[in-house]
Amino acid sequence: MTINEYKFAGKKAIVRVDFNVPLDENGNITDDTRIRGALPTLKKIVADGGAVIIMSHMGKPKGKVNSKLSLSQIREAVEKALGVPVAFAADCANADAEVAALKPGEALLLENLRFYPEEEGKPVGIDKEDPAYDAAKKEMKAKQKDFAKKLASYADCYVMDAFGTAHRKHASTAVIADYFDKNDKMLGYLMEKEVQAVDNVLSNIKRPFVAIMGGSKVSTKIGIIENLLGKVDKLILCGGMTYTFAKAHGGEVGNSICENDKLDIALNVEKMAKENGVELVLGVDSVIADAFSNDANTKVALSTEIPEGWEGLDAGPQSREIFANAIKGAKTILWNGPAGVFEFDNFTAGSRAIGDAVAQATAEGAFSLIGGGDSVACVNKFGLADKVSYISTGGGALLEAIEGKELPGVAAIKG
Ligand code: AMP
Repeated sequence: MTINEYKFAGKKAIVRVDFNVPLDENGNITDDTRIRGALPTLKKIVADGGAVIIMSHMGKPKGKVNSKLSLSQIREAVEKALGVPVAFAADCANADAEVAALKPGEALLLENLRFYPEEEGKPVGIDKEDPAYDAAKKEMKAKQKDFAKKLASYADCYVMDAFGTAHRKHASTAVIADYFDKNDKMLGYLMEKEVQAVDNVLSNIKRPFVAIMGGSKVSTKIGIIENLLGKVDKLILCGGMTYTFAKAHGGEVGNSICENDKLDIALNVEKMAKENGVELVLGVDSVIADAFSNDANTKVALSTEIPEGWEGLDAGPQSREIFANAIKGAKTILWNGPAGVFEFDNFTAGSRAIGDAVAQATAEGAFSLIGGGDSVACVNKFGLADKVSYISTGGGALLEAIEGKELPGVAAIKG
């Protein structure tokens, strides 16, 4: 079923969204991108005369009630954005009364799903090494089904629109779909758009295809890096990863972030790139600092000659030029992860150079896909959001989809 075909009038729809928005210490939303992302789906349902039950997680409460992560803090903002009354159910697994009171054209926001360990389906308080772990996991999986069934009982149909968590097989993102008929479950507009954007990159690759991977560590990205080596023409590796590569070649990296136990992985990436005929692009110099601070003293050094007491926090001028040149002329671009500690204003130049080059290539006809919270924050910070082709709301989900893995949140709807 598709959201455009479904007749929502007089029906109750339970919609999984990703309202895991950042809050300041007073509970105010600091970035409402995710709420805005879900609006087309929610608005469509209420405009058609349906009632909508909105469910989401927020943060990592680890299966326990935590008032700092209560979705009650965003109820008003959701109501304002949606333009219809939004009630709140303080217990997502005991919301029958609130659901019964819900009228067509109205909405109900359920409390944070992750206040229940059943949402993630992982046993809590027991170590993976514990001999009793497997039994505890089995028991939790059974409870997860009950939890999903309870959520499903609130509604006539299920809409999955949380791309950011679509790579997780959680109660609300996948298991719940088992309790709906094929004709009563569907992807929301955001999911449809995200899946389409990935498809644009994967099924119709216009070359050259340039991927830019940044961020802090090689270890968390190695899966996608190895996978991309079979797809791209050029792979730019930047950010904190630079120093693991520099060290692997015997360089001095001072206090830079470096995974000493991953040097062999770095060398293997270089070998694989050669075997696959992929041009691996690494910077040569860095902006180094004498402290991990925006106000630290800085200078430029080769990334393999960083003195003790100093650390590389951004790409240096030569590296920026190398990156920009590598992006020039690309026809497909994937960017995940910043080229430096862009959160500090004095260390944004590397990420900015990449952003500008991606925008330029896009203006010249490339399809550019930006994904992962930090690269999206970069693009927003530099005012380039409308100069790239598509900004994904997913980090891990986007990378897994690009790896070619079927996302549980998508599979559950199809199945
Ligand atoms: P990731 O979650 O792996 O994509 O990493 C994103 C984080 O990497 C951002 O918070 C950046 O500040 C950080 N990062 C980028 N470059 C560096 C660097 N040279 N040293 C330390 N952290 C970095």
